[in-house]
Amino acid sequence: SLELTGIGKGFGQTEVLRGIDLTVRPGEFLSLVGMSGCGKSTLLRIIAGLETPDRGTVSIGGADVTGADPSDRNLAMVFQSYALYPHMSVRENIATPLRMRRLSGWARLPLVGRMIAGRAALDDIDAAVEAAAGVLEIGALLERRPAELSGGQRQRVALARALVRDPAAFLMDEPLSNLDAKLRAHMRAELSALHRRLGATFVYVTHDQIEAMTMSDRIALMIEGRIEQLGTPDDLYRAPATLRVARFIGQPS
Ligand code: ATP
Ligand code: MG
Repeated sequence: SLELTGIGKGFGQTEVLRGIDLTVRPGEFLSLVGMSGCGKSTLLRIIAGLETPDRGTVSIGGADVTGADPSDRNLAMVFQSYALYPHMSVRENIATPLRMRRLSGWARLPLVGRMIAGRAALDDIDAAVEAAAGVLEIGALLERRPAELSGGQRQRVALARALVRDPAAFLMDEPLSNLDAKLRAHMRAELSALHRRLGATFVYVTHDQIEAMTMSDRIALMIEGRIEQLGTPDDLYRAPATLRVARFIGQPS
């Protein structure tokens, strides 16, 4: 599991996170929701290791990773902007994390050894890329560039690129917010199906309560840097702990 204990974080004078305790269960789809500025992205970035907390600890599978580099956490972050490399094909985009992982392992080998190892490894990488592309049904798009794809297709490439790394958890920050309403609804269903198929752990940030209610096993509703309520969508809907929870759940998205 992924465990956060007593996480606090401020920027200058502003306390953005004020003591977050949260355990994400293996295989669960957990959404972090709340109004703009409540600290969702900051919390996700702390989990990913892109930001260091002032207080508290982050542990993954029992290991304390609070000070660890993002690359040592085996988490896959899927950004809102997709962050695909525009000059690379879809195939190359998906393969990049695998190549980077190999390269750091090969750095100590002499050049000739690297070339041989590189040849042998090429097939594994291709196989992994094609498997991930198959899961996301983008196998026919592998030779295209990101500019030649729709928003939803780019989203799937970003997911495939995360998938090949076989991460302990997927961290997603409003991954659908750039899409139009129809595509967003479609991708919601796709992400839910992907979650079921992979049995992977998802931590999903959104300020769209409909998205959270339909996709999540549990929702952590954040207000001003604290978790106001943690529960199933049904818990939050039927038994909001506070008026502020009821207001958030009840508002139109
Ligand atoms: P949104 O729904 O708008 O994305 P959020 O819940 O993700 O909001 P955060 O991005 O976590 O909110 O930001 C929480 C607060 O921290 C905001 O007031 C923001 O201005 C502030 N903040 C975030 N990052 C920084 C930073 N690097 N330096 C200073 N302030 C920051
Ligand atoms: Mg945010």
